Amino acid sequence: MQEIKITKTTTPRFRPEPDKLGFGRYFSDHMFLMDYDAGQGWHDPRIVPYGNISLEPSAMVFHYAQEVFEGLKAYRRADGGIQLFRPTANIARMNTSCERLCIPTIDPDFYLKAIKTLVKLDEDWVPSAPDTSLYIRPFIIATEPHVGVHASKSYIFCIITGPVGAYYPEGMAPVKIYVESRDVRAVKGGMGYAKTGGNYAASLRAGEVAAELGFSQVLWLDGVERKYIEEVGSMNVWFKVNGECITPALGGSILPGITRDSCVHILKSWGENVSERLFSAEELFAAAQNGTLEEAWGCGTAAVISPIGRIEWGDKDVDVNGGGIGPLTQKLYDYLTGIQWGRIEDPFGWIVKID
Ligand SMILES: *Cc1c(COP(=O)(O)O)cnc(C)c1O
Repeated sequence: MQEIKITKTTTPRFRPEPDKLGFGRYFSDHMFLMDYDAGQGWHDPRIVPYGNISLEPSAMVFHYAQEVFEGLKAYRRADGGIQLFRPTANIARMNTSCERLCIPTIDPDFYLKAIKTLVKLDEDWVPSAPDTSLYIRPFIIATEPHVGVHASKSYIFCIITGPVGAYYPEGMAPVKIYVESRDVRAVKGGMGYAKTGGNYAASLRAGEVAAELGFSQVLWLDGVERKYIEEVGSMNVWFKVNGECITPALGGSILPGITRDSCVHILKSWGENVSERLFSAEELFAAAQNGTLEEAWGCGTAAVISPIGRIEWGDKDVDVNGGGIGPLTQKLYDYLTGIQWGRIEDPFGWIVKID
């Protein structure tokens, strides 16, 4: 395996107080970089002080959005140790995203070593206050200076990290969402299953409109029939209807969330009836009307579990679980975060310790 050359910083970065972290605003002292050039492959892995990257304005990422990213966290245990949650799943997913966007993949073992080496070097950036963690953001961008549409011949793979607080500073509270009827974020055959910036660009307008109207997320429908529920904002989504835990089946347009997959495993281990299937907005609102809609929540690495308290669809408007946090939603949150922070034994083999 290639050696990672380390250059330590001489000017440590600003460290906010634990209660002022917010999400995604502060970055640790160091970053990982590696270059790709056609004919040479991935080369020169290195850890350097966090800082600017210099690119030509003609670099292809600026014009054709050839880019992929990931998001995972390092957690501080009560005994002071540090651990990652399912990092190999993030690594595998990034390589799947790479394949979709014609970006060269990265050796999974080397990728994990890069994450571990970086987090270890900046280990005192992993916060220890309740609900805080170190967010890890790996990404690859196309750097070839060429205005012309083809797969780039050069890339940069970069990993930055930064301490984050709870995604919702006021604590987990049910959010209000509405069914988006104008925009779609992805279609089968497109890039919906890849974690790539283009999907986010496509989702921004609906998110802005929703925020103006006082909603915190939109519920995306499929792009073909405009019937079936896909995701909520940039999270996967779950509904509990008449005892059945339903999440939309992965069909190419939905991002295969690692939190979603963890929910599938945990719920099944509890003996819950889990269905990955088509679930339409019609069926959701019918369930709400006949009283069988029990709970609804979004899930993703950033917020973990986000209860949904109210859903609007055109002129229809329903409360979920009386607008409060459902018991299964709360139990999932407690269990999943318990495993992630090491308060609960991990029966699934998901935890990778760094120390
Ligand atoms: C990252 C992401 C998710 C959640 O995935 P996790 O692996 O659980 O963090 C869901 N939807 C979209 C669109 C995403 O980009």
